[in-house]
Amino acid sequence: MSGLTLQNIVKQFGQFTAVKNVELTVPHGTFVCLLGPSGCGKTTLMRMVAGLDLPTSGAIQLDGKDITNVPTHKRDLGMVFQSLALFPHLTVGENIAYSLRIRGIGKEEQKKRVDELLSMIHLTGYADRPVAKLSGGQRQRVAIARALAISPKLFLLDEPLSALDAKLREAMQVELRQLQQRLGITTIVVTHDQREAMTMADTVVVMNSGEIRQAAAPVEIYRRPADTFVADFIGMTNLIDFSADSTGANVLGTPVTGLAIPAGLKSGVLSVRPEDVHLTAPGNGAISGTVTFVRDLGGTIETFVEAGGKQVVAVSMPNARPDVTVGQAVGIQLNPADCVVLKS
Ligand code: ATP
Repeated sequence: MSGLTLQNIVKQFGQFTAVKNVELTVPHGTFVCLLGPSGCGKTTLMRMVAGLDLPTSGAIQLDGKDITNVPTHKRDLGMVFQSLALFPHLTVGENIAYSLRIRGIGKEEQKKRVDELLSMIHLTGYADRPVAKLSGGQRQRVAIARALAISPKLFLLDEPLSALDAKLREAMQVELRQLQQRLGITTIVVTHDQREAMTMADTVVVMNSGEIRQAAAPVEIYRRPADTFVADFIGMTNLIDFSADSTGANVLGTPVTGLAIPAGLKSGVLSVRPEDVHLTAPGNGAISGTVTFVRDLGGTIETFVEAGGKQVVAVSMPNARPDVTVGQAVGIQLNPADCVVLKS
């Protein structure tokens, strides 16, 4: 098939297994973000895709061809890695044309391609500038253009925006996504920033301890996390223990009906996003709790409630501000459709 396929990839460093049995398909033209905490194996996986490291076992295919043992320069890749900085002594144009020049492409053709790429990254007219005179965001755009100069089959970026300040970073995320969509190039980005992943990706691949925990569209990862790690890692959530028997479920000391609990599961965890926690008057089947803290962040209001010895957080918009004060008894209403039932 067209695109990238990783088959049962394992990477060991001595006794330590950094990547465990990774299976992943990246269809042609899609944007995938590898996301996970520090040390989870994102960069190791990316380096194997790039050919900078060999897998201990497993196979990598690009457009149906096995590239597991193909050296990096023959893989048709564009790469923006933190360690691959621009050449400081060259101009913007010379940096972008670098890989065209070493492939023996003529001067005229080089200039045409550089102009095309400069227009694409909104830096028309910058060809003769020394890269030292560029801002951080401009430099990053030049690095992206340089990687795309040869029209690669696969575009790989490892933490490409991490050196930029928060505002510029957000703007560049949108730019990078728009550029990728315009070019329709298969792209993989490593990031530890979930907002960045959610902004850019068709598929977010959440990793932990060398394993893929879930690979799905951003909204699916947020609304239907596969396990408690993913639920907790992506956005804010309440992880609430429950017990169940044939008569129903007990959540924080209160019977709750309508939860989609698989037959035979005696206990587990509900993941409930704070925006799905509704505060009501006590009674009427609601879970009983007491308000312990209210945090007004301007754009949202967080209400902390203690229920059954656990803390539950509710988030509301200012126009739906719950009329509660610290110490007040409240009810917590959960809509079963908003509760993701997970194993502990
Ligand atoms: P970060 O977000 O901090 O960059 P990461 O998810 O990219 O982390 P990796 O760099 O892939 O993580 O590292 C995964 C694990 O493999 C880490 O425990 C790391 O120490 C280990 N590791 C990586 N490269 C080597 C190596 N060459 N030799 C030994 N261990 C390594």
